[in-house]
Amino acid sequence: MNAPAVYQNYMGGRWAEPSEGATFENLNPAACHERLGIFPRSGAKDVVAAVAAAAEASKTWRLVPAPKRGEILFCAAQLLTARKEELARDMTREMGKVLEEARGDVQEAIDMTFYMAGEGRRLFGQTTTSELPNKFCMSVRSPIGVCGLITPWNFPMAIPAWKIMPALICGNTVVLKPAEDTPLSAWNLVKILEASGLPPGVVNLVFGYGPEAGAPLVRSPGVGAVSFTGSCEVGRDVAQACAGSFKRLCLEMGGKNVILVMEDANLDLALDGAVWGAFGTAGQRCTASSRIVVHKAVYREFTERLVRRAASLKLGNGLDPSVQVGPLINEAQLRAVEGYVEIGKTEGARLLCGGHRATEGELGRGWFYAPTVFADCEPGMRIAHEEIFGPVVSVIPCNHLDQAIEIANGVLYGLSSSIYTRDVNKAFRAMRDLETGIFYVNAPTIGAETHLPFGGMKQTGNGHREASTAALDFYSEWKSVYIDYSDRLQRAQIDT
Ligand code: ADP
Repeated sequence: MNAPAVYQNYMGGRWAEPSEGATFENLNPAACHERLGIFPRSGAKDVVAAVAAAAEASKTWRLVPAPKRGEILFCAAQLLTARKEELARDMTREMGKVLEEARGDVQEAIDMTFYMAGEGRRLFGQTTTSELPNKFCMSVRSPIGVCGLITPWNFPMAIPAWKIMPALICGNTVVLKPAEDTPLSAWNLVKILEASGLPPGVVNLVFGYGPEAGAPLVRSPGVGAVSFTGSCEVGRDVAQACAGSFKRLCLEMGGKNVILVMEDANLDLALDGAVWGAFGTAGQRCTASSRIVVHKAVYREFTERLVRRAASLKLGNGLDPSVQVGPLINEAQLRAVEGYVEIGKTEGARLLCGGHRATEGELGRGWFYAPTVFADCEPGMRIAHEEIFGPVVSVIPCNHLDQAIEIANGVLYGLSSSIYTRDVNKAFRAMRDLETGIFYVNAPTIGAETHLPFGGMKQTGNGHREASTAALDFYSEWKSVYIDYSDRLQRAQIDT
């Protein structure tokens, strides 16, 4: 096997070795011995240099007309489109998700890039009346400065794009610290941005581990806004680090997303949705359908059919087009899933399929876990309210819609929910009462589109939304402008 390629950080328009010379390996989770690359294990010094480059570039980038910034993003979107297949293959190799889903991840980056490129010709503010004569009022968006972006491994290109593109179109510069398990997709994205003509220093990339490279980025006084997607534990640390200086912060963290299957649901459709929602990306999505609350009238049939479907899913290397479920990202994730399955058994949930690592043949070379269904779960069980982030679903019986909604809302998270029903009244009640930032009718909890706000209620986040024009609100400051052309002192609220 060839020696793996060696990659560098990117700062101030130059590719650079990490200051201490340390590195880490990028491994294929479907075949753990396969090394895909050697990446810089950066530290505080590298972060300081990247933030300084971003701050320098910010002086001129903020003055580039937004439509011109948009033209560069258009070019990046076109390059991403032209290279979609190759980028998706790289992603499957480093992250494990099946190729079809990796293509979807790249497509999401493409969609976001085109979308934000178009925003370059909008970035609308308001013009409005004044309470005083001969006075003009408007609001305009101003950039914040340098944005620190910290991303997870489960959407290796889509999530960096969700953060980079709105930040850039608003006139900010960025330092990205991508997840240590999926550095190649971030490198590919930044290479494309470089080739699209972004001026030096506008996008900077620092690889490395969270505490060594992420923490100094969050704490850097030169960073005006931080956007973080990852675990609640780290998110809490990040929030505390930002609180001291009141730094603007967008957090997107856990989920314990729920599908409600009512007695009048189209069960075939609900099963398709449940299998895709629970086991797509091996359950490693923040919007994964990890709980299914099923009306008792259809509970038995639904559960039996779900188990048959789950047990027949084909596991393997995601580059094989016949494979439906890839590996978990790493050994720690595998151990976490194993731990939760033991907890579920101890709690008395009924394990109907899976519940073990998959090791037959080639699977033994990777971090594979068999799709797992627990039935007869009680809402209070840990497997029914804590995020597992693996191919494990908890099925919970219910007697009626009100009870289903109460169970659904009885968790700390509030990212995504869905209902399968043919009754419009039930659908609208669920839409109104479910405490989640995303809601679907007759579809699973996954499948967000880039032009709608993405994010959650309760402990999923801190109230901000990504994607759509909502992202522009995070990456820009409103400036309210009053222009008085009366040639005399006019006092608001007094000279009325
Ligand atoms: P996950 O469990 O999905 O890997 P983490 O929250 O551990 O989620 O990681 C998400 C991102 O946060 C990764 O890029 C990781 O390197 C980074 N990270 C981890 N610890 C810290 C930290 N203390 N400060 C800043 N970033 C961190």
